[in-house]
Amino acid sequence: QIRNLVKRFDSPDSPGQSVFAVRNASLEVAPGELVTLLGPSGCGKTTLLRMIAGFEEPTSGDILFGDRRMNDVAPNRRDAAMVFQSYAIFPHLSVYENVVFGLRLKKMPADEIQKRAERVMAITGLTHMANRSPNQLSGGQQQRVALARAIIMEPRVLLFDEPLSNLDAKLRDQMRVEIRELQQRLGITTLYVTHDQIEAMSISDRIVVMNGGVIEQIGTPREIYARPATRFVAEFIGKANFLKAIVLDGETIDVGGVKVRYVNQRQPGEQLTLVLRPEAIALSPDAGDFRATVKRAMFLGNIAEYLLEIEGVGEWLVDSPNPGESGLFQPGTRIYASPSKAALHAVE
Ligand code: ADP
Ligand code: MG
Repeated sequence: QIRNLVKRFDSPDSPGQSVFAVRNASLEVAPGELVTLLGPSGCGKTTLLRMIAGFEEPTSGDILFGDRRMNDVAPNRRDAAMVFQSYAIFPHLSVYENVVFGLRLKKMPADEIQKRAERVMAITGLTHMANRSPNQLSGGQQQRVALARAIIMEPRVLLFDEPLSNLDAKLRDQMRVEIRELQQRLGITTLYVTHDQIEAMSISDRIVVMNGGVIEQIGTPREIYARPATRFVAEFIGKANFLKAIVLDGETIDVGGVKVRYVNQRQPGEQLTLVLRPEAIALSPDAGDFRATVKRAMFLGNIAEYLLEIEGVGEWLVDSPNPGESGLFQPGTRIYASPSKAALHAVE
């Protein structure tokens, strides 16, 4: 658990000025959960993770593992293990010696080390390369060594900082599935930092979206996508259209002169911004809620991607499923667009 965590740095660029890398962050992670910190570069993800690991001292706020306050506990006594983007493998040690390094430091008995190593090397697929030197390994294999070295410690908390950024796309997909399966099998409480929204969506129990040092939203991948709290979250995760609307009554709003059903608890006359996802818009040549003109049409195989000019409203992106190539609406065509009413969602 973290409570009102703040990290202030002296600005490296302007002396006397401060950079608030993390602003008042609070979060609770349940045992066995995998929670992702997601956000653009510079939003404070690494700083937050490093404070939890103990490599960075909070300016204020609390870090707890269970009931125990960790702020003043040294990193090597926190029972947390971190996996970095840059693997941080020792080049002069074999795969096996890299994996057991932390246990040797702890002066664990040799037979216990052997037992744990066999198990961890097996589940990370390293058994047959135990005697190799790290420079005989591919990027993916090196990342497995880093992972094995962390989980052999049987930590209470596993911390990942963009662990797959140095791998090519295909290997990245494969490794994130492996990490997720392993994490679930071992039931280790995990915090995972990434700037990749697809990665976060695919492996997380819950996602923490960060922006400028602030936690903007915490939720399951489904909640974050369907019910983004802010414009930033809506735009960072997936594609989004933003609609300006005026409340007419408790179940109707006006979007560019068109009455749309949207159950709400606002006052008549209040202005709203609504998120509408591109796949939640149905298109038809002859009837629908909004008159539209096709500005751009792209056949992408599984979907057609359109840019429409909606009369009196503005531009919308639309993703249509199962386009027959001949069934694509061509640029210049006048059609109708109907938002799925359940998919409309107001944001701050
Ligand atoms: P992320 O991991 O999301 O890319 P970081 O946590 O690395 O973000 O950085 C957050 C902000 O804090 C950035 O503006 C960064 O420049 C600043 N920052 C990080 N470390 C330091 C430091 N040691 N000194 C000064 N500013 C720092
Ligand atoms: Mg970082």
